[in-house]
Amino acid sequence: MAVNFGRNHPMIEELFSHKKEGIIKPFIISGPCSVETPDQLFQTVKVLYKEGIRVFRGGVWKPRTRPGSFEGVGAIALPWIAEVKKKFDIEFAIEVASAQHVEEALKSGIDILWIGARSSVNPFTVQEIADSLKGVNIPVLIKNPVNPDLSLWLGAFERIQAAGITETAAIHRGFSNFREKKYRNSPNWQIPIDFRSALPEIPMICDPSHISGKRSLVPIVSQKALDLNFDGLMIESHIHPDEAWSDAAQQLTPQSLGLMIRSLQTRKVHFEEEGKQHKLDEIRAQIDQADHDLLEAIHRRMALVEKIGDFKKLNNVAVLDMDRWKHILETRPAWANELKLSPSMIEEMFGLIHQESIKKQTEILDQNPKESQD
Ligand code: PEP
Ligand code: MN
Repeated sequence: MAVNFGRNHPMIEELFSHKKEGIIKPFIISGPCSVETPDQLFQTVKVLYKEGIRVFRGGVWKPRTRPGSFEGVGAIALPWIAEVKKKFDIEFAIEVASAQHVEEALKSGIDILWIGARSSVNPFTVQEIADSLKGVNIPVLIKNPVNPDLSLWLGAFERIQAAGITETAAIHRGFSNFREKKYRNSPNWQIPIDFRSALPEIPMICDPSHISGKRSLVPIVSQKALDLNFDGLMIESHIHPDEAWSDAAQQLTPQSLGLMIRSLQTRKVHFEEEGKQHKLDEIRAQIDQADHDLLEAIHRRMALVEKIGDFKKLNNVAVLDMDRWKHILETRPAWANELKLSPSMIEEMFGLIHQESIKKQTEILDQNPKESQD
């Protein structure tokens, strides 16, 4: 029999009710990266509560990349959490990474569990957590795996849902990328968008703190998430952020968190007037036509690629010509710039087109090897 350990705060019910009408009011989860001391927890919760936060987070066991850094205070934090839960009418979420964590969290009345990015990347860990959740009903939030692999993220949901958990939500916390400089974890917004196409009924929460890595970026990433119709935000907040034992640079004071949330621009889900919806449909029809023209242009280009492939084959000339490729890579982004298109986007696009052209010409060359030896 399913046992419901959580008290299901109205905000949580709203998140899982899949209602999407009117203005998008983001569901907010906030709290420190790590629970450090009873006083730090109490002070942080007290001010966040004043700022209107009702659903909290706090890491107890911290997965760290290198040993020796702070790995969380562990299970001694659970009674501290129980204590603040008694003082304030709140729900509390913690990260679990093993069956033992789940058992201890459930025993101490934790309301929501989340699976972190270093666990969702590992099917063994997710399965262990899923097995330990059989017969329990508690909301489980699943962060994206550290690497940008949509199937791995979807797979984690399949495992947790197969264990009988009905309330699940996804947390987009960005993806590790060694080339990235601006963000701690690159947002790759297309992946959460693809996630929503695959599992539209799962609420999507953004974690701007772990995407940003620094507090100055948190409002910008939060606004972007709302603009993309995300259902909620999980944001780290600490009573004295600079003294935090983990993730000091990205945490906000509870007051600045409140200020930020109030300054976020909320958007409407749909157009209210029929005339405006009609105008939107009209612009979309024009976009459909523009996309069709784009595909026709690509089709024309590919036909020319075949022609050049035949010609090279006839004359026994190699497919790849680095000087030509260099020329393409220099001219197309420059043309894009003149048309006020993003040169980096066009460079990426031509990377794909060129790859396909090379593939096509190689296929032509391989079709009838004998013919090319004239
Ligand atoms: C966290 O939420 O504190 C955390 C460790 O996040 P992630 O799993 O996204 O790195
Ligand atoms: Mn953190």
